[in-house]
Amino acid sequence: MAFTYIFGPVMSGRLGLSLGLDLLREKICSMDCAYCEVGPTSALTLERRAWVPARDILDELAQWAAQGRDTEYVTLGGSGEPTLNTEFGEVIRGVREILPGKPVAVLTNSTLLHVPDVRRDLCLADVVLPSLDTLVPQEMRRLNRCIPGLGPETIVRGLLDFRKEFSGAVFLEILLARGFNDSEENLRLLSEFIPRLDPDRVDVVTLTRPGTLDSARAVDAPTLARWRAALGAHERRNLRAEARERDLPDQEAREALRSSLARRPQTVLQLAGGLGLGPERVRRLLDALVAEDELDAREVEDGLFYSLRRSGR
Ligand code: SF4
Repeated sequence: MAFTYIFGPVMSGRLGLSLGLDLLREKICSMDCAYCEVGPTSALTLERRAWVPARDILDELAQWAAQGRDTEYVTLGGSGEPTLNTEFGEVIRGVREILPGKPVAVLTNSTLLHVPDVRRDLCLADVVLPSLDTLVPQEMRRLNRCIPGLGPETIVRGLLDFRKEFSGAVFLEILLARGFNDSEENLRLLSEFIPRLDPDRVDVVTLTRPGTLDSARAVDAPTLARWRAALGAHERRNLRAEARERDLPDQEAREALRSSLARRPQTVLQLAGGLGLGPERVRRLLDALVAEDELDAREVEDGLFYSLRRSGR
């Protein structure tokens, strides 16, 4: 069956097999990052409201759980910034009832951590994965294209306050884009800030998929290695497709592929590992979807990425 708010499970470099919950459905975000794989932000906002009701998401999750499928994590994220949804705390509580014992992770761009209600509800999670690409104000304006008025100072304050209040794990992610935030000044500022935040893990990554702006490109391997060493970054888990062939009819497998690709472009191996389908079968279904003009296939530095064809792009 096709779901509206649930996607995956997909293989996440930091969490393993992760079932995603989309708390927004549209590209609603407080940033409009040049590298964003979801596409341009349609609503650039800091307005918090029940963009999608928690009840609708949890009803779907209960249906998913009734299928007897498994995941290592449930991750709140989706098409924008999940903490903009005022009901994200209710979603976390509901996940614990539907999937007892399953750890809950939340992806966040860190822009709302200065809001006490957001920090209170984020403390319900097991793992929080904040991103912070740069502490240089002009780099943040160019790369993350935040809502006006928001800058590194507010974000740093929110992150440090949250760290004091949260007893779970914090996995910080820094994404480097060549010529945007790979400056020595940023490296120095982050080197000073990270020990103050004291995250459980730091990941320094670069683009592996097409972003919103063509000018956003990956940094080269030596630069990535140097930043990782300087910031004490964790080596990313090696993604490996698990060829566990699920007994899924072709039509449902196609729907699962479309639904997963609606959230982010992926390779054959990423899709196969996340959805538990054999890579050869995934390749065959993707080829058919490309031939039917449902998908685009684009070669980038890390391989051939498939994405859902969007009208007007
Ligand atoms: S990368 Fe994340 S923070 Fe940036 S625009 Fe996309 S959803 Fe928003």
